[in-house]
Amino acid sequence: MGEPKIKAVSQSMDTIKSINPATLEVLGEVPNMDARQVAEAVRAARAVQKSWEAVGFAKRRESLLCVRDAILDDIDAIADIISKENGKPILEAIGNDIMPVMDLITYFAKNAEKLLRKETIKLGKWNFLGRKSHLEFYPLGVVGVIAPWNFPFSIPMGEVAMALVVGNTVVLKPSEYTPLVGKKIKDIFDKAKFPQDVVRLVTGDGMTGAALTKAGCDKIAFTGSVNTGKKIMAACADTLTPVTLELGGKDPFIVFKDADLDVASSAAVWGAFCNSGQVCASVERVYVEESVKDEFTRMVVEKTNKIRQGIGQSSDVDVGSMTAEMQIKKVEQHVEDARKRGAKILTGGERNRDFKGYFYKPTVLTGVDHSFPIVAEETFGPVLPIMGFKTEDEAVTLANDSAYALNAYVWSGDVGKAKRAASRIVAGTVNVNESLFTHALAQTPWGGPKASGIGRTHGANGLMDLVQVRHVHVNSVVKKKNFFWWYGYSAEKVDMMKALMTALFSRKGGRIKAFFKFVRMSLGAKVN
Ligand code: NDP
Repeated sequence: MGEPKIKAVSQSMDTIKSINPATLEVLGEVPNMDARQVAEAVRAARAVQKSWEAVGFAKRRESLLCVRDAILDDIDAIADIISKENGKPILEAIGNDIMPVMDLITYFAKNAEKLLRKETIKLGKWNFLGRKSHLEFYPLGVVGVIAPWNFPFSIPMGEVAMALVVGNTVVLKPSEYTPLVGKKIKDIFDKAKFPQDVVRLVTGDGMTGAALTKAGCDKIAFTGSVNTGKKIMAACADTLTPVTLELGGKDPFIVFKDADLDVASSAAVWGAFCNSGQVCASVERVYVEESVKDEFTRMVVEKTNKIRQGIGQSSDVDVGSMTAEMQIKKVEQHVEDARKRGAKILTGGERNRDFKGYFYKPTVLTGVDHSFPIVAEETFGPVLPIMGFKTEDEAVTLANDSAYALNAYVWSGDVGKAKRAASRIVAGTVNVNESLFTHALAQTPWGGPKASGIGRTHGANGLMDLVQVRHVHVNSVVKKKNFFWWYGYSAEKVDMMKALMTALFSRKGGRIKAFFKFVRMSLGAKVN
């Protein structure tokens, strides 16, 4: 967890107070659950898992569609609590948190059964010898979902809905910064009349999350920071509990000179400042071809200066507050460090003191390079560092020069060129002429290599991370009493095995001869 998390109000050991990061008002209080309460939740979720699995896809599909109905009926209240607890504007709460969940539920309700239907494996020559194989997919059991605060609704809801549709039950631990959104999620499942204990909520701080990793779940699906991800992996190693780790990003945004600079600059501004930059897919490093860098930078600064910052619940606000004191402090550190090293702050570069809460002005800077923490480390705040490049090779090298590899962007008027560069970038997702957006696509996998994590959420790959695979193999040559590779080993059988190897794999000729030798020996040996 790195730095201690500073809540704006004191909290007792037994409860956690949720605050509005824009106004610092207390929004409510939830229990800070201990290991005993967490273990009880996992036990209860396990007790109903088999019956939830047994109801089958049709019933689970219908139940999830009831969740979708419950969300639609309560959209204003859900958006309000997301905006109040996280600080983001209402439009983002609806468009970026709720809308993707509606689409995800629709997609997996419709397609999960198809995506997980039995799969025949072609065995080639072994099929001719009477062997058949297929794969079956079945639920893991109890999935522990540990979620962050930046998309307090869409990230946990997506994980929970996908885990449920395949027949798992779930214990959800929301972030201590957004526990009321977690409570809202639980209310939605209750309203949709989900069977008791199929979805359990455990509220609390990092200790509650740590307890969940030790409570005997069959999988931990974690989204959060690299540091916590490492702790979770270490904790899960004890019991060999599998993990999916969706960790951070430091996404590069490459702009070639033939890109539509007006559109690309708007895309960069939105991609960098949406949700106050607290997005794992945020535009965190911009590389512009030298000949258009000044023009692009001018456009970015002009557009940034038009951004309206304010309390997220007003509908005409573009950028709200950040979510937590520790996060705004990290942004301050990165910007101050860059300033001291000689970076040029073109706009922003400080807290917005017009408000009581954690507002940081959208910030654009140049004069930075990969030795600056603001370029090398995840900032997770409203900052947009712009650098230059001369050639496609250099752009790709700069993009790949990062500890992270979650997501990347390439902008060009020549889509062929952009796709060529995209295919050379090491990342879970590379977008051509796009900004943010793809985390919201339920159909496509999300996750990335290097420090960005392990495994995938969303898409068919994400679904596969939530099931076990059973390979069923059938031998239909059952009338044989023995096979020559079974017991009764002999020099003759060794020769037969060698003849078979030559018949199957030799590239030097003699395969047919070896085959007949093998047949003759097997008949003569009378071992079958
Ligand atoms: P944290 O890692 O601090 O926390 C994530 C969750 O883990 C919270 O619920 C937290 O609880 C819990 N937790 C804390 N300590 C432990 C522990 N020892 N064992 C188990 N659980 C624990 O991340 P943030 O909430 O600060 O989220 C921001 C990070 O998430 C950024 O780095 C961002 O890049 C990443 N992220 C990645 C995404 C992706 O898809 N790759 C998407 C969104 C965010 P509590 O909050 O109560 O401390």
